[in-house]
Amino acid sequence: MSLNFADRLNNVETSAIRELFKLLGKPGIISFAGGFPDSAMFDVDGIRIAANAALTKEPGAALQYGATEGYGPLREQIASFMQKKGTQDLAPDQLIVTTGSQQALDLLGKTMISPGDKVIVEGPTFLATIQCFRLYGAELISAPVDGEGVKTDELERLIEEHRPKFVYLIPTFGNPSGALLSEERRRAVLAMAVKHQTLIVEDDPYGDLYFGEAPPPSLLALSAQVPGSRDLLVHCGSLSKVLSPGLRVGWMVGPPELLAKATMCKQFSDAHTSTFAQATAAQYLIDGRMPGTLAKVRKVYAERAAAMGDALRRELGDAIEFVQPQGGLFIWARLTGFNGMLSDGAEFARRAIENNVAFVPGAPFYANNPDFSTLRLSFATVGIDKIEEGIARLGASL
Ligand code: PMP
Repeated sequence: MSLNFADRLNNVETSAIRELFKLLGKPGIISFAGGFPDSAMFDVDGIRIAANAALTKEPGAALQYGATEGYGPLREQIASFMQKKGTQDLAPDQLIVTTGSQQALDLLGKTMISPGDKVIVEGPTFLATIQCFRLYGAELISAPVDGEGVKTDELERLIEEHRPKFVYLIPTFGNPSGALLSEERRRAVLAMAVKHQTLIVEDDPYGDLYFGEAPPPSLLALSAQVPGSRDLLVHCGSLSKVLSPGLRVGWMVGPPELLAKATMCKQFSDAHTSTFAQATAAQYLIDGRMPGTLAKVRKVYAERAAAMGDALRRELGDAIEFVQPQGGLFIWARLTGFNGMLSDGAEFARRAIENNVAFVPGAPFYANNPDFSTLRLSFATVGIDKIEEGIARLGASL
């Protein structure tokens, strides 16, 4: 018997990247394909201490059902974490805890998208967002990105033309673009939210992973300076990339009526994010270990990003171009096709796998009009020696 699945599944295909990942089990492969942090960075001792404290101090709260909006002490700690990063006026009840920021994106889809609604995303953008919004029937429109993030003049033109339900941006070290939206463009985005009364979603799992200077303030922080913009802004945050994705702790800040609907939908979805994970995360933040952890991961990823950038320039030269990222986990590059050299990212990925090195071709990250010459390389999970060896193998795969 063939199962009669819901029509909404017709809008979504399994990702090409998933197919590629099946090949990664090959022995000896050096992989720049992953999208996750390095497990060796996890502060295991700190998390163990926090988990013990959570069980000792509040076993009832840590192991019982909890409020859908999130565990009170964690909401307080997240608000204080965000206040220190520039959103001084954020109160704990202005955010809800989500099961990773991925759930915040799903709740946005559930609460905001009716079939046929238009949503503007960056081209390229986070693949799971494309899949998730399409599942709810969104028609996605891509706004182009350059080294400074989304091109705001183009974005405004698209907003005027399509009147989208909302605009989804990853302004800080985007996945996959690695791009950092300049402060001027951030202000322009907030101004156009107000001018066109358009909801803006800021997805920000990477903002803390900067290598040198701190990035410009988040859209959420800047919204305090642009009257009317806070009411049109949703901000998604996460502990995944800085502490541990396995904890599945994320959060969403947004207009109260949107948070109320999202909370209602979350009730049907998972009732609440794991109380044990929330109590552990709250205790970890209370223990004051986050600044030390952030300093460590920033340093390691900065060294790896620099090593990968140098190796790419050395081994691939004119064959590729990229903007050296100032934070995050990724280098986003384009094959130039210079002197008749290879210009197809998927073909390059196939040849690379034969040479025991993997990365992700860039085309699937576009909701429409893919640039087939692009690729995403993660420098996060591989030590410097292996980065050099892997990039040399890439050079030999051209
Ligand atoms: N948004 C972006 C841009 C991401 O890259 C990711 C993780 N790859 C997520 C959201 C989801 O992360 P999590 O659910 O672990 O918070």
